[in-house]
Amino acid sequence: MSELINIQQFLSTIFEAKGRTEGVDPKTGRFLVSRKDMALTAQELSRLVGKQPPWSPRALQSVYAGTNEPGKKMLAAILAMGAAMDGVSPALANKVEMRLYANPANVRAGAVVLGESRACLRPGCGVSFVPNVPWRKFCSEECRAQFARDAALNGTGD
Ligand SMILES: [Zn+2]
Repeated sequence: MSELINIQQFLSTIFEAKGRTEGVDPKTGRFLVSRKDMALTAQELSRLVGKQPPWSPRALQSVYAGTNEPGKKMLAAILAMGAAMDGVSPALANKVEMRLYANPANVRAGAVVLGESRACLRPGCGVSFVPNVPWRKFCSEECRAQFARDAALNGTGD
C-alpha cells in the first residue's frame, strides 16, 4: 500500500508545502495540523471550487484522517490544489487512486496510467481494459476467437 498515492498522502503533501504541519503523529505517522490551519486550508479549497458555505475544518480533518471519503467536489478541489503545489508530481494532476487489475510483472503498484480504457468489442463480454497496443479490440484471445466464430456463423445465414 505504501507505494499508492492516496488522498491522505496528497493532503499531507499540501500541508507540508504550505508549512502548516506541527510535527508528526507518532501513532499514524502523518503530519499534525492545527485546527486553525485546517480551517484555513478548508476555506482555500472551498474558494477553489466555489463551495458555499465553505467546508468545515472538521470535514477536511475527517478526510485527512481517512474516516470519511471526500465528496466529488472536495476531491476535485484537493487535486486542483495539489497539482499547483511543489512536491506533487504533475503526472498526478487529476489522478485518483482506484482499483485496477494488472499482472504485477507488467504494472508496478502505484503506477500512473496514462492510457484510456475501452470496452471489449465482443458483445456480452463487459470487460474494460487499457490496451497494450492502440489497435487492440478484445480483452483476450478467447474473446477475439469467439467474436470471429460468431461472425462466421452469422455470415453463413446470408
Ligand atoms: Zn472480452
